[in-house]
Amino acid sequence: TVRVRFCPSPTGNPHVGLVRTALFNWAFARHNEGTLVFRIEDTDAARDSEESYNQLLDSMRWLGFDWDEGPEIGGPHAPYRQSQRMDIYKDVAQKLLDAGHAYHCYCSTEELDTRREAARAAGKPSGYDGHCRDLTDEQKAAYVAEGRTPIVRFRMPDEAITFTDLVRGEITYLPENVPDYGIVRANGAPLYTLVNPVDDALMEITHVLRGEDLLSSTPRQIALYKALIELGIAKETPAFGHLPYVMGEGNKKLSKRDPESSLNLYRERGFLPEGLLNYLSLLGWSLSADRDIFSIEEMVAAFDVTDVNPNPARFDLKKCEAINADHIRLLDVKDFTERCAPWLRAPFAPWAPENFDEAKWQAIAPYAQSRMKVLSEVTDNVDFLFLAEPAVDEASWTKAMKEGSDALLRTAREKLDAADWSSPESLKGAVLAAGEEHGLKLGKAQAPVRVAVTGRTVGLPLFESLQILGKEKTLARVDAALE
Ligand code: GLU
Repeated sequence: TVRVRFCPSPTGNPHVGLVRTALFNWAFARHNEGTLVFRIEDTDAARDSEESYNQLLDSMRWLGFDWDEGPEIGGPHAPYRQSQRMDIYKDVAQKLLDAGHAYHCYCSTEELDTRREAARAAGKPSGYDGHCRDLTDEQKAAYVAEGRTPIVRFRMPDEAITFTDLVRGEITYLPENVPDYGIVRANGAPLYTLVNPVDDALMEITHVLRGEDLLSSTPRQIALYKALIELGIAKETPAFGHLPYVMGEGNKKLSKRDPESSLNLYRERGFLPEGLLNYLSLLGWSLSADRDIFSIEEMVAAFDVTDVNPNPARFDLKKCEAINADHIRLLDVKDFTERCAPWLRAPFAPWAPENFDEAKWQAIAPYAQSRMKVLSEVTDNVDFLFLAEPAVDEASWTKAMKEGSDALLRTAREKLDAADWSSPESLKGAVLAAGEEHGLKLGKAQAPVRVAVTGRTVGLPLFESLQILGKEKTLARVDAALE
C-alpha cells in the first residue's frame, strides 16, 4: 500500500511550489488508492507561526485537497504537528547516541568555520571533518569542563550511497560529499534532518515526493533510515522522487519571496482551484502531448510519478491564465454565477449594494463567462449595469469620442429610441443605420455608444449589454454624453 506525505513548514504564505508538491502527492495517493498523510513541520519556533498554519489548512481546503491522516482529522500516528512530538525525537536521538550512530560534537561555530576555510584553501572537501567522531571520555570531559554544550551529530557510513530516484533514476553520492551532520542543536532542539525522516519512518511513509532542493538531503536520510531500521524504529526505506525546480522570470528559480509565487495572489485574482491545479500539474508532468486542459479526476486517473520530467519547469503566468479561462468556460452558468458572488457582493464591489440587480447579473453572466481569464475581472465587465453612472475611462473616452461623434450619437439615440428593445438585433440595426447616415461602419459607429453607456471601449457584446441595461438607462447615458 502507498503512504505518502505532504509536510510543509508553516512559514510565510503558501506558494505555488508548495501547492505543486501537495498536488503530486495527493494525485499519487489517490491514483494508487493509498493514504495521504498531512504533517506540519513546525519545529522551528523562530520561523513558524500559527497564522501560517491556519493559512496552510485553509489553502489546502480551498484547493479541494483532502487527507487521510493529519490536522483536524487525526489518525493512528497522531499528533501530526511536530511541535507536539518533541519527546519522540528526544528518545530517538538518545537511541542513536547509545548505539553509536550519532555522537556529541563539541566544535564551536568559529572552529568549524576556520577548519572549513583551511580545507577549502587546500582544495579538500569542506564539510564536517569528523573531529569529534571518536573522542575519548577524557576529551569529552575536558570539553564539558570548558563549558561547551554539544550538538548531536549523525555518523555517516564511509561508503557510497546509491538510490533510484523515481523521477531522476539512479543517483550515487560519494562519502566525501556527505559528511556527518547535525541532528540536534546544542539547546536540545531537534533539526529537520532528524525529525523529517523519523516521522516518515514512524508514519510508515512508502514514497517521499518533494522538491529537487531536498535531493542532497536524501543520502543522509537513507543512512539515517538504515540506522533506524537496525534499531527497530523504521520498517523499510521509502522510495524518493524529486520534483523539478519551478523557474520564474529571467529563468531564475521561483522563490517564496517572489510575489507571483504567492498562492493568495491567485486566490485574490479569482483563479479557480481547478484551473490553477491543472496548470500546476503541467510543471513537470503532462496528461498527453495534445491536451493541456483536463480535470483533476483525469489527472488522478493518469498520474504516475515516474512520468515526471526531471528538467526545470517554467512558470508561465500567461499560460496559467489561459488554462484558467478555459476552466471558467467549462463551468455551468449557475456555478459560474455563484463563484463570482464574492466579487459582486459588497463591500468589495464598486457599486452601492442596493443597486446590484440579480436578474440583470443572471442575464449578462453567460457573456461574461466566455470572456474572463480570472473571476476578479467580472467587476469591470458588469459594473455598467450597477453603477449609477458608468465608470468612465478617460483614455477610452478620448479614443472613441472623435469629431462627429456627437452627431452620430444624436442619430443613434433617435434610432435606439424607436427600436424594438426585446431584440438585440434590432438595437444593432439601429446603430448600424445611424452609422450609415454618417458614413461609418458598425465598428466605428458603436464605439462612441459603448463608451457613453459603459465608460470603456472594450467589453461584453454591446447590444446584449444595452438590452440588459434597459432602454431608459441607455438613452439617459447617451444624453449625458451629449451634454
Ligand atoms: N518541511 C519540509 C519543507 O517544507 C519538508 C521537506 C520534505 O518534504 O522532506 O521543506
